[in-house]
Amino acid sequence: MKLFVPKETAAGETRVAMSPDSVRKLVGLGLELVLEQGLGLAAGHPDEAYVEAGATIAPDADAALGEADLVARVNKPDDETVGKLGKGCLHLSFLDPFNEKELIDQLASAGISAVSLEMIPRTTLAQKMDALSSQANLAGYQAVILAAERFDRILPMMMTPAGTISPAKFFIIGVGVAGLQAIATAKRLGARVEAFDTRPVVEEQVKSLGAKFVKVDLGETGQTDQGYAKELTPEQMEKQREAMAKACARADVVITTAKLFGRPAPRIVTKEILDQMSSGSIVVDLAAETGGNVEGVRMDEEMVTENGVRIIGHAKLECMVPRHASQMLAANVTAFLEHFWDEEGNTLNLDLEDEIMQGCLITHDGVIVHERFKEKD
Ligand code: NAD
Repeated sequence: MKLFVPKETAAGETRVAMSPDSVRKLVGLGLELVLEQGLGLAAGHPDEAYVEAGATIAPDADAALGEADLVARVNKPDDETVGKLGKGCLHLSFLDPFNEKELIDQLASAGISAVSLEMIPRTTLAQKMDALSSQANLAGYQAVILAAERFDRILPMMMTPAGTISPAKFFIIGVGVAGLQAIATAKRLGARVEAFDTRPVVEEQVKSLGAKFVKVDLGETGQTDQGYAKELTPEQMEKQREAMAKACARADVVITTAKLFGRPAPRIVTKEILDQMSSGSIVVDLAAETGGNVEGVRMDEEMVTENGVRIIGHAKLECMVPRHASQMLAANVTAFLEHFWDEEGNTLNLDLEDEIMQGCLITHDGVIVHERFKEKD
């Protein structure tokens, strides 16, 4: 079977879905790896490194797309690319399926079996394939590094003959994968950290990282069976904002990571809250891509409010560490292919009964197969 990995074309994308190490693994499995020329340059992998690992470079990328049994990439394909894929091809990428109805229809009509990386179930068995987590982890780390770089102070406490410097105060809103990594990174750099999440189960995790959990009595909140937060009622949101205002006002750096799967992010840090923060404070909004947790945030922009608060809204901070982001994505893709690989037949077994496949396969055999995206009568 032929796996083709095309170059990413999305603006600002530095990551790729394949690393030389993963090429080695997949070739060992029995796959033929074909890559577009210059695939990994932005991620630190020259063509030679891939060739040395056992891949070949396609002389004609369009032809390679048409001939591939499998295609793996980071971002969703554009219309033109879908038109070039061969019927029956298995296409793996982030798809943003909640916002890409037309693309999904197009993939179905073209007879593509499209896997959406964001829909891979959050189960123990699928952990190695969980691309949302691998990327969120790096984004959480990078948010702290970026804030530290923009900050006009240092993070740790320092006792010197020239005086004592108090530690920076961080407040993390939303403690999923990115939030936990942000807490751990800020702690490692010596900051004092507080955090909040609507899921009460998070309190223990926050404490185990040495941070303080900000308690807010919101009444019934809970989480879905996949561990995602449930949307708050308007009254609960108001209560949360009141509590967040106090915690934000005492913080030097606020990092927001609060998301609702498949829906716009909750607006938590309002203008009134920003107005109460002191000049020189930093707010990094990791939810900018889905509308933002912070009022006024603009995607991929940095701005400073009238009272001197810097708001950073980069959509994908993991793109700032492309080598590791690509290493992890490639490992996620490889784990997926290994899981469905049929060694005897030397082929990929597209098992429609498999729980992981059912969770993430959106189109197959000319139709939309995923329950969540099927047309409802
Ligand atoms: P996410 O990116 O969807 O959201 C980030 C965080 O924001 C979540 O913790 C969520 O509870 C929180 N949030 C939502 N609304 C909020 C609000 N109004 N105020 C404050 N916080 C708010 O989450 P994620 O990082 O993708 O993780 C989702 C869940 O999946 C977590 O429970 C995580 O532990 C779980 N998970 C499980 C596995 C696994 O078992 N394999 C892997 C990864 C994640």
